[in-house]
Amino acid sequence: MIKKIVKYFFIFVLGLLLVVLVFLFSAGLWHRWVTYPRFDKQVKAFQDRRKEPEALTALHTYRGALHAHSYWSHDSRGRLSDIIPAAKKAGIDFIFLTDHAHGDKDTIPRGYHGYYDGVLIEPGTEREGYCTWPLDSAVIDWTVKKDTVVKNVVTNGGIIFYAHSEEEHNWDNPYFQGMEIYNIHTDIKDESLRPLICNFITSGTKYKEWAMREIFDEQVDILAHWDALNSKRKIVGFAAVDAHENQNIRARYLEDGRVEWVGPDNHAIDTVEASIWNRWMFHAPDENGWIFKFMTDTYQASFNMVTNYVVADTLSVPSIANSLKKGNLFIAFKSLGDAKGFMFCSKNAEGKVSGILGDSVRIDNVKSFQVVSPLPGQFRLIRDGKVINVSADDQYQFTWSEPVRKGVYRLEMHIKIDGKYIPWVYTNPVYVY
Ligand SMILES: [Zn+2]
Repeated sequence: MIKKIVKYFFIFVLGLLLVVLVFLFSAGLWHRWVTYPRFDKQVKAFQDRRKEPEALTALHTYRGALHAHSYWSHDSRGRLSDIIPAAKKAGIDFIFLTDHAHGDKDTIPRGYHGYYDGVLIEPGTEREGYCTWPLDSAVIDWTVKKDTVVKNVVTNGGIIFYAHSEEEHNWDNPYFQGMEIYNIHTDIKDESLRPLICNFITSGTKYKEWAMREIFDEQVDILAHWDALNSKRKIVGFAAVDAHENQNIRARYLEDGRVEWVGPDNHAIDTVEASIWNRWMFHAPDENGWIFKFMTDTYQASFNMVTNYVVADTLSVPSIANSLKKGNLFIAFKSLGDAKGFMFCSKNAEGKVSGILGDSVRIDNVKSFQVVSPLPGQFRLIRDGKVINVSADDQYQFTWSEPVRKGVYRLEMHIKIDGKYIPWVYTNPVYVY
């Protein structure tokens, strides 16, 4: 009798556990087996429609990650062996790091600096709500008034961009040259974490990119704010990956043979003995010594989710920095499709290019705007924050030659996947004055 009761009790508990698991993972399982395979197929079909467009300028386009963290930040362990292979796989040409400062005196350059396996790395800092790259040897004294730091860096040739545009800033400080118009970390703030984590458990291996894109929301308020600022002064828009590769659970052997567990935000969880209770979970150490990895925000997935395409003459710090300051860049959600080859420019009466995205051009030099894209979609021309023209679907080209008047013209490209339009490219404006 007792045996029977125990047996039924166990069956009941197991059944209950199963119900709870199915409940927790139902959305994730549905994504893994239904939504993501379908989405993946549609994205691949979209990417297969690639046609190299005509080059409107002799300049090159380099793919870059701006606002990323390495081991120098307290909340990341990323080393070159993590960062560079990820950058290569994501097709990234340069990374402008923004490590958190260690103290009140911040010496730059520090850490990584230069070319690593062809990937250009420039060090910088994220502090007090901004991304800064002094570009030269500099000691930043953070005890000095914030606006003074900004002024000093910029007057010495460096770059200061607003980080985390959802936060409070002194938006009227004229020394700031740019702002984030998309940041993965900003976007994730309104998500509830449980479904995201369940999703990564079910789809993180096969469909990491789509599990990551679950966080995506069009940053309507930030874009509107950017337009409003641009109506007063030029402010460059860029994408921040804010990659730390730190939302993970990992384990590795310490020198004494014990196992260290590291959790989210680079916090050590525990150090334990290896035993039959945990050894079954471990694999052979990878190139960084990890024997267990459950990873969400990998460098590769972050670099691939949103990418800056900078138009410049060479892959060097002076050239890239110069283009960043001028706003000669557009951003694209690259996991949907690589936007290399895309270009937005103004043309004069003779049909010659008079300016590209980010440039300021005199009104008598602008007869029309032209856009070319390697992948088809819908073009939306925006003047002073208002959409003034929307092209038909599935276009590779867009020309607008209504009488052009003075204003700030930027372009968005949206693509149709799974029956829905989603933003793919945001350009910096052409400023017609
Ligand atoms: Zn950051």
